[in-house]
Parts: sequence; C-alpha cells; structure tokens
Amino acid sequence: MATYRELLAQVKTEIDEISTVEAHERLELSDGSIFVDVRETDEWDEGHIPGAVYTGRGRLEQRIEGLVPDKTRPLVVYCSAGSRSAFSAKVLEELGYVDVVNLAGGFSDWKRNGYEVTIPRALTPEQRARYSRHLLIPEVGEEGQQRLLDARVLLVGAGGLGSPASLYLAAAGIGTLGIVDADVVDESNLQRQIVHSTERLGEAKVESAKRTIEALNPDVKVVAYQERLTSENVDRILADGWDVIVDGADNFPTRYLVNDASVWSGIPVVHGSIFRFEGQVTLFQPGVGPCYRCLFPQPPPPELAPSCAEGGVLGVLPGIIGSIQANEALKLVLDRGDSLAGRLLLFDALGTTLDEVTVRRNPDCPVCGDHPTITEYIDYVEFCNAPVEV
Ligand SMILES: [Zn+2]
Repeated sequence: MATYRELLAQVKTEIDEISTVEAHERLELSDGSIFVDVRETDEWDEGHIPGAVYTGRGRLEQRIEGLVPDKTRPLVVYCSAGSRSAFSAKVLEELGYVDVVNLAGGFSDWKRNGYEVTIPRALTPEQRARYSRHLLIPEVGEEGQQRLLDARVLLVGAGGLGSPASLYLAAAGIGTLGIVDADVVDESNLQRQIVHSTERLGEAKVESAKRTIEALNPDVKVVAYQERLTSENVDRILADGWDVIVDGADNFPTRYLVNDASVWSGIPVVHGSIFRFEGQVTLFQPGVGPCYRCLFPQPPPPELAPSCAEGGVLGVLPGIIGSIQANEALKLVLDRGDSLAGRLLLFDALGTTLDEVTVRRNPDCPVCGDHPTITEYIDYVEFCNAPVEV
C-alpha cells in the first residue's frame, strides 16, 4: 500500500506541469486555456485566477463535462499548492481531456508573483440557501447566479405571458425586472394571469405584479411603468438599460414597436404569442437571427386580424409559453445552451405537440435588412377598440 507521499510522487510522474510564470503567459495570451480551480468553496471565494472555472475537488468528475464539453481544450488545473490539482489532472486525463497541465506551486505561488486575482462577490447565506438548486448546477453555479442577480429584464405586459415569465424570472433571482403595462386587474384576467389575484381587482397590473414579485423574492427590484408602450415613451424606457426584453404584448402595434426598438437598440427580444390552443415562441436577436418584421414585414390588414370576439385562450397556455420565454431569457443571461434565434417553436395544446420551424433573417426586411425602409417608429392603429387580453 502506497503512502500519500508515494502516491503523489507517482502521479506527478504521470502528468505534465507548468510554472506559474508559464501559466500567467497563457492567461495574458488568451490562448484558449481554461483554468480549472479544484479548491474548496471558501478558498475560491477568497480569490481565484481571473476567468477560471470552479469545480472543487469533490465534484470535479461530475461538473467538468458540463463546464468544458470540448475535451481538446487545454486545461490548467490548480489548487493552493499543486498537490490536490495533481490528482485532479490525472482524473481529467482519465476522463478523456487530452491537454491537461498541473499548475506547480498552485494559487499560493500565483499570488506570491503578484499576478492578478479575481475576488468574487460572495452570495449571502440567505442567497446561498435560496438559490441552492442553482448552485448545484455547474452551468449556473455561483458565478451564474451573480449574473442573474446583475441582470435586467424588461417585461412588456403583465398579462398572461408576463405572469409566469415574471414569476419564474423573479424566483430565479433576476435582479431587476421592468414591467410595462397600462391596465388594471380585471376579473376576466384571473383565469390565466397568475401574478394577480382576486384581492387586486381594480389595482394597476404593474403594482399588483410588483407586490407579488417582491413577496416572492426580496432580491428583485421591480421597475414599474404604468403606461402603454408608444413611440413617445419607448426610447425613454429602453434607455433605463435592459439586457433582454420579454415580449408578452397582446396587440400588433406594441409588437411592432418592440421589434423596431429592439433592432435599433440591439436588445434581444424573447417573443411569445398565444391564441386559443396555439402558442408560438422564438428569440429575435439583432445581428444573430431574424426580427419580427423579417417574418411579418407589416401588420395584417384589420379585416384579417383575429376579431376581438374570437380571441379566447386556454388558461394554461400562456403558462407554458411564458415559461419557455423565461427559460430563453435565463439562458441568454447565463450565456448557456442553444438559443431560439432563428427557430420558431409552435405549441399545440390540444394535440400536445411542439413543432419547430427555421426562420431566417430577410435581407429585404424593412427594419433589419440591408436597405431598411423603416427608420422611425410607427404607431399603428389598434385593430379593435377593446383589445383581447392575453
Ligand atoms: Zn428583420
């Protein structure tokens, strides 16, 4: 039976090591190397190598493939002095990573050389408990949770789609949620608009949503805009700085306004719409995929728009579509997964089917095309005097 020292000595003959000077050169060159920190959480929290990914020694095998799916990426593994990371480097090679080096001297030597260190903002004990199920997923983790807490998401509409989207975004810890809605809570809303409640009848929807969200998660700051989005106020609202727009608008004029504003300000829009038993959801990301006008250059003529009397919706449908919108917004903030840019999802609640169609940017699009013909906001007239709520 080998002693610890003998085992360490043995492992060190089987792995490659680099000095902190060489590692620092790699960092400065941004040569694609990924630094993997295998220390304990409290050591990481006191400071780590900039850009490093955190796995900890105990969860290394579980986490690394989620964090670094490409096994050809060069890995620099480090701990405090280079011993725990030596064993980790061996494990990573056994997992199929082909270019793994151990950082000799570890983080202690890195600091002794005076190299740059990132000191993460730590979550509070309350936040660690609240977001514990996020912290357990390597694709989110503490760093991802901080991104969520720093994120600003604007919801257009606090109705059927905005209700589940706002609740899940708030629960996930999106730090700032803007909500634009001019309406008050009506009895006919409560069949699906679950952010509101019977006791809020007659109250402004933005205030009702704010109360529900702040009761759910005190980390979330709600910025309420009790106004209808128009060409007059859209720039002012967007100037407050938003990372993502979740569009739950129930009418064409707002949808086109949100689209044009997002193209001109470069803010991605998670689009959702629902009608009876059918829902659609996609991501319009300027510079990446199509915009709404690439698909529908102009609003339909009033005679072809669904008449107000026909516009019912199954109560759970906005729950499904709005939740997918929240999922897209979270992925965008976390920069994880495959986005819905260029993919339109079609959900049929009666058949319980989900189809996907590819949608492409239209070079002749009047807003995001090569020769745009629309360069100013257009206030389209509402198609019916009493718009159907979604
Ligand atoms: Zn377009």
